[in-house]
Amino acid sequence: MLINLHTHHPTLASGSIEIESVYYGQAKTPTAALRSVGLHPWYLNGLDWHHAIHWLHEQAILPSCWAIGEAGLDKVCNTPMEVQVIAFQRCVEVSESVEKPLIIHCVRAFPEIIALKKRWKPAQPWIFHGFDKNRPTADMLLRTGCYLSFGSALFRQKSHAAESLRTTPLDRLFLETDDAAISIEAVYERAAEILGIGMGELEGVVLGNFLRF
Ligand SMILES: [Zn+2]
Repeated sequence: MLINLHTHHPTLASGSIEIESVYYGQAKTPTAALRSVGLHPWYLNGLDWHHAIHWLHEQAILPSCWAIGEAGLDKVCNTPMEVQVIAFQRCVEVSESVEKPLIIHCVRAFPEIIALKKRWKPAQPWIFHGFDKNRPTADMLLRTGCYLSFGSALFRQKSHAAESLRTTPLDRLFLETDDAAISIEAVYERAAEILGIGMGELEGVVLGNFLRF
């Protein structure tokens, strides 16, 4: 059984478990059996906060909700950073209260998120999705107990993702397709090739990580 930790386009094919990413205000109706629900940093301007927080709590307790997110900080989008931090904090609070993992969207804000993790000391696992940064950044996140999820960047020649994947302990690893037009099978095959392990072993390792939560 393959685990697709983060997708916006579930295939609903048998043989994999997909976590569909759902953000507050999105027009598309989710179709996968499992979801993560969050306040995405891109979509916070003009937010009806009262309604959004109510929605988040309501969704978070559903059995179909496996994780909270994507949530996080993004220095490249035009949402003011103070607003992003408030939304991120609300998501962390919900993740802690319903005891479900947090899936993190992070663009150029790794030190800031790690500083918040050290301050807030969450008990729930934090998983950085779409990880494509170099080893020092991976090491910093792994040292603070975080998990890394890799996807389409593993196919990019200029990405550091492959190098970081090689040094990520197998018990901290997830794989995903996000919004890329690739299959989760292809991501697993690529990751297995980079790691130099068999598909069966990789499948077992990631499934174990998923079931541990
Ligand atoms: Zn995404």
